[in-house]
Amino acid sequence: MLSLGRFSFGVGDRFAHQASAQLRAFQKLAERGIEVVPVWNKSNREHTFIGSEPSSVREAAQEAVRALGWRGAWHVDADHIQRQTVDRFLDPSDFFTIDVADSIGRAPDTDALASFLDRHPELIGTVEIGGIAEPLQMTLEQVERTARKYLSAVQEAGEIYRYVVERKGGEGNIVAEVSMDETDAPQTPPELLVILAAMADQGIRAQTIAPKFTGRFNKGVDYVGDLVQFEKEYRDDLAVIAHAIGAYGLPGNLKLSVHSGSDKFSLYPIIRRASAETGAGFHIKTAGTTWLEEIIGLAEAGGEGLELAREIYAYAYEHLDEFTAPYASVIDIDSSKLPVPAEVASWEGAKLASSVRHIPTNPDFNPHVRQLLHVSFKVAAKQGRRYLDLLEANADIVGKQVTENIYDRHMAPLFLD
Ligand SMILES: [Zn+2]
Repeated sequence: MLSLGRFSFGVGDRFAHQASAQLRAFQKLAERGIEVVPVWNKSNREHTFIGSEPSSVREAAQEAVRALGWRGAWHVDADHIQRQTVDRFLDPSDFFTIDVADSIGRAPDTDALASFLDRHPELIGTVEIGGIAEPLQMTLEQVERTARKYLSAVQEAGEIYRYVVERKGGEGNIVAEVSMDETDAPQTPPELLVILAAMADQGIRAQTIAPKFTGRFNKGVDYVGDLVQFEKEYRDDLAVIAHAIGAYGLPGNLKLSVHSGSDKFSLYPIIRRASAETGAGFHIKTAGTTWLEEIIGLAEAGGEGLELAREIYAYAYEHLDEFTAPYASVIDIDSSKLPVPAEVASWEGAKLASSVRHIPTNPDFNPHVRQLLHVSFKVAAKQGRRYLDLLEANADIVGKQVTENIYDRHMAPLFLD
């Protein structure tokens, strides 16, 4: 039975060259007695942009596990899969993030809605939930409205879940996550309770659930939103999950998955505190920001590496609209704050590295440059062998950036004091 541990952390490795450097961060944490399960995630969209196959993620992870002698659990996440995209992920993946956000708001059929409401009278009225000061209050109309909004999405999650389970030879062979984060409106804690009840009805043995939280989760930069509100929602969600595990027989290790888009530094202390106080676990999924550490490492390396880093920036700058358009909802770039390529061409490697490396207190840090480069990985992909050869030639300096980024900036605030 694949049972996901209390703490897990998802990393992306766009060019499949940093799995060992990433795993090293988990190993450093394990040396301090903190067990965090590494999960390598890569979405269909990323594979398509890079021209890679899901099997390459498993191969790179497997090789890192062997090279470092990692004895703990690890997983390969078919990230944000849907029914149309899951097939090529079936073989190499054992973690499936079932994305049903597109079906939120699709009207369920009348019978399904009626039978859900029939089956769940306990949702109507006052629901006492341990850990929440005010009991949840939902009228029949509110439960019905919520079910109308989410029932189709959960049914679809059930279909994909059963499809995957059957092909993987049983429920015990996968870790399933249901994700609803890629949508406009956050799910409130009462809505989450309705969703979990519906998931139980569908027989989905999910071990993680990724709701959309309040606030903006831009790629590669910090959270933008109301921290007090986030903390309240996050803690209420934890309480709702604990309640639903008992009430609906969901897996006892079911936990929140935060699709962070990486670098949500201001949320980490909130998540750590909530976890310490409640005993809850969490999964933090990061985006493919490891590739930015590759750029940082190449810039630091100087010579041809620096040359390529400058070229990639120049190309990205000239194609700003093209590269940012698909990510419009998850980036905020002020183009007036982007240095012109001629200026960047005069920078030393250390200065270019500092402008990208996410240390907000460094005066050279530029979140606009960072976000632009983050979405411009296709430029590096187009370089093909030239890019990969430089990564390999500078593996030490690049790997050092990758490990430090994960360990110092993410794991330390999440797991250490
Ligand atoms: Zn997501």
